[in-house]
Amino acid sequence: MSIIAFIGVGNMGGGMAANLAKAGHDVRAFDLSAAAVARAISHGCTAATSARAAATGADAIVTMLPAGSHVATAYHDTLFDAASPHAILIDCSTIDVATARRVGETASDKGLKMVDAPVSGGTAAADAGTLTFMVGGPDAAFALARPILEKMGKAVIHAGGPGMGQAAKICNNMILGATMVATAEAFVLAEKLGLDAQTFFDISSKASGQSWSMTSYCPVPGPVPTSPANRDYQGGFASALMLKDLKLALAAATTAGASVPMGAQAAALYQLFANNGGDSQDFSAIVKLLRG
Ligand code: NAD
Repeated sequence: MSIIAFIGVGNMGGGMAANLAKAGHDVRAFDLSAAAVARAISHGCTAATSARAAATGADAIVTMLPAGSHVATAYHDTLFDAASPHAILIDCSTIDVATARRVGETASDKGLKMVDAPVSGGTAAADAGTLTFMVGGPDAAFALARPILEKMGKAVIHAGGPGMGQAAKICNNMILGATMVATAEAFVLAEKLGLDAQTFFDISSKASGQSWSMTSYCPVPGPVPTSPANRDYQGGFASALMLKDLKLALAAATTAGASVPMGAQAAALYQLFANNGGDSQDFSAIVKLLRG
């Protein structure tokens, strides 16, 4: 059993911390939201009075925070100072590559072991312990992080050095955003041409138009019974989070000098959808915008 400090027990972190507690770890939860901490306690965690109190003497520190600024502040202001020299630091938030690299490299400079380990999979996967982790950091840090991440996920993949977990995450989600837009517009075109949605799905899901966006999160109701389209686009992966990830991809592309015209177009469409109030709906609801 290890002592694990878990900072940020919101929609995702709550389920993840619960799985660590279920695995027998002593999980000290801290969050700015009292309701989030209360939920963590009900799942076997103990409440910490501050991030510093949670981290002091812990064997591992896991953070699941909204964005890069939260992560940089938490580590630079508190966690680097409070962490034991033997502790493994794991940031599971989705943040920009530059901040992830900077924070990871600062940890190394301080003689601490740290990985960036963003996840694929939403709240259902966080609750079920079936997330996929994309991990960036030195080999020794990955070796320490792996057994902890395995308690929260079904796959743990080492992507490279500091920031490479975030790089893998945003590149993957840029494909996801672009393929969802392409899939949704194809269903709209099929509809306008008089082609039945189920028939189009039956053909395209077995032909070269097939993608995860089509077969798992099909943007029209019917063909994939579990897709959010069948529950009025509630739950699933919020359009706001897709927009966040696309913006992170565009920022990284600008820094790296990469050309990402499809990612940029997808970001513009998700921004327009958010401006029209679609941000809380699943990202497959972009089909509504495309219908006009
Ligand atoms: P959330 O807003 O539900 O949880 C974030 C939590 O962090 C909140 O409870 C908030 O109170 C807490 N917090 C913020 N600043 C803090 C601080 N300084 N100290 C302690 N707690 C603090 O968000 P979420 O949906 O759980 O997402 C968390 C991260 O996971 C984000 O980076 C998001 O992009 C990523 N992510 C989310 C999903 C999803 O489906 N929700 C999927 C993959 C990745």
